[in-house]
Amino acid sequence: MDTTCDFKFLNERIATYFNPFYEGEYLVIQTYPREMSLRVSKRTFDYESALSHERIQNLSHDHTSFSLRIFYQQQLWTVTEGKPNKISKQQDWKIAGEFLNANYDENAEGEIVVCDCSYPFFRALMIGDENNEFWQPITCLVNDQMREIDNCPNCNFSLIENEVDEDDFEDPIPSACVGCQNYHGIEYGDNFLVCGIHPYGWDDNECPDYSNK
Ligand SMILES: [Zn+2]
Repeated sequence: MDTTCDFKFLNERIATYFNPFYEGEYLVIQTYPREMSLRVSKRTFDYESALSHERIQNLSHDHTSFSLRIFYQQQLWTVTEGKPNKISKQQDWKIAGEFLNANYDENAEGEIVVCDCSYPFFRALMIGDENNEFWQPITCLVNDQMREIDNCPNCNFSLIENEVDEDDFEDPIPSACVGCQNYHGIEYGDNFLVCGIHPYGWDDNECPDYSNK
C-alpha cells in the first residue's frame, strides 16, 4: 500500500512538516483550478501506476486538470520517461500562518492571491504619500515573507496593477442578493441594475424572488 499513512509510519524519523514528500516519489497533482495549497491526488514510487492515475483523473474530471510530478532534490519536477525533467512551476508552497489568518479575516485589508503559475502571494492594501490607496503584492511564504514584489518570483509575471480609485471598487452585493441566481449587479451609465425583477434591489433580506437553484 502506498498511502500517506504508510509513508509516515515507515519514514517517521525523516518526515517533517515542511517536507512531506520523499526523494523519487511520484505525485499526481491538481494543476487546475489553482488552489492556495498543493492538491495531491496520488503518491507512489511506481511510475506506471502514477501515469495511469494521471490519465484516469484527467478523463474523469471535466473542469479539473491533473499532472504528474516527481519529488527530486526537495522540489517538484516534471517527469519524462520516469525521470525528472524540469523544475515544476507548481511547488508545495507553504503560506505563513499570519497571512492565512489575514486572508480569512474580513477586517484585514488584503488577501492571498494565487498566480497562474501556482505561486501564492499576499495582496495588501497600502496607503501612498498622497493618501492614495494601492495594492502591493508581498511575499507570504513561511521562508520568504513581507518582501514587496512587483513580479511573481516563480514565473516573473507582472503583479502590479494600477492605483485603485474609490470608484473602481466593485459595488458590494446587497445582502439580500448574495448567492441569488437572479442577481445582475452591473452598472449601465449612472444606473446600477441589481436584478431584472427588482432593478433597485430589495430592502430587507427576505426577497420573495430569491433563488439559488
Ligand atoms: Zn507566477
